[in-house]
Amino acid sequence: MPDIAADRLTNVVAAVFRHAGCDDAESLRVADNLVTANLTGHDSHGVIRTLRYVDWMASGLIKAGQGIRIAKESPVLAVVDGQMGFGQTVAPLAVDIGIKKAKEMEVSIVTLKNAGHIGRVGAWAEQAAAEGLVSIHFVNARGSELVAPFGGRERRFSTAPFCVGVPQPDGPPHILDFATSIVAEGKVLVAAKGGKALPEGALIDEEGKSSQSPDALYGLAGPDAPPDHRNGKGAIRAMGEHKGSGLALMCELLGGSLTGNGAAGPGPRNFANGMLSIYLTIDAFMEEDNFFAEDVKGYIDFVKSSTPAAGHTEVLVPGEPERARKAERLANGVPIADIAWDSILQAGEKSGFSRADAVEMAGLA
Ligand code: NAD
Repeated sequence: MPDIAADRLTNVVAAVFRHAGCDDAESLRVADNLVTANLTGHDSHGVIRTLRYVDWMASGLIKAGQGIRIAKESPVLAVVDGQMGFGQTVAPLAVDIGIKKAKEMEVSIVTLKNAGHIGRVGAWAEQAAAEGLVSIHFVNARGSELVAPFGGRERRFSTAPFCVGVPQPDGPPHILDFATSIVAEGKVLVAAKGGKALPEGALIDEEGKSSQSPDALYGLAGPDAPPDHRNGKGAIRAMGEHKGSGLALMCELLGGSLTGNGAAGPGPRNFANGMLSIYLTIDAFMEEDNFFAEDVKGYIDFVKSSTPAAGHTEVLVPGEPERARKAERLANGVPIADIAWDSILQAGEKSGFSRADAVEMAGLA
């Protein structure tokens, strides 16, 4: 499969969502968000999600054209209900509220519940950083029990991502953004679809033994069956032993329980992302002008000056790998595994956008 230029890939994915029932603006917003995840190297949260989103639309699990409802509000906080709209539509609306309130009140907290999949959480920290704000995000995925807690073998947590964004006045923001599982579920999806293999010990099988086979999560589905985590009996392992497992728990309690979204389980629950976001205006904390910016810059340089360990060529800080990957993929195109491309074509076909038109739009005819 040749690499596809980012703008062409965006056009194809937007066309799929347009045919599936989103208006032009939403189609482009979702496509742009997914392609940006691919550009930044997070293929797990990129266009590979297209088919799943289209299936969710068809089953009514996510709704096109759905806006937010503000359930409660004060000058410093908002409780936002995403009403099962696309995450790419309702998350930026919730972030906008947080930005506006933090600019007025110096700090703000916004909760978001019942959001469709919000994708790469770093996108929302970048939105706040572009306005000069520090932001902290605890996220959960209701109805997506996938991760075994430290010491356990059965699924209890979602992949519950955690994210912090720190802006710099004269450069790109520092964005820490990761799933609290050893790998995000999408990385298991990518491996199951023939993409990059999982690291050893990323999963735990039903016997409680470490595994790297996607079958531990998806079971032995036939070649034409879409990977479905309800078919497997194993789990993804929480990152960082008891510490990562504890952070995952807090993402469930804050991103799930406190937002009103509900934690990952127990029992059957429809998928929805929940997110607790904290926004901080830097100047509100400062006694000296520019202290934060200068101290951060000096400290980051100090961290990066650490002599590389064996097997490393340089010390990177959060956000750097994504920027490097983005520059490279914007220049050379986005690599898409055959099976992922085929799933986009399937999503198009299901929505009335022909394979031939998609192939031509991608420049692959
Ligand atoms: P990951 O393991 O690739 O870690 C990414 C983070 O680590 C980034 O902040 C990156 O800058 C930093 N990083 C990577 N390599 C580094 C290095 N060599 N030195 C220093 N820092 C480095 O990410 P992941 O856990 O696979 O998560 C992927 C994406 O999935 C994230 O964007 C996350 O938000 C998203 N996600 C979303 C959901 C959801 O429900 N919406 C659930 C889970 C994950």
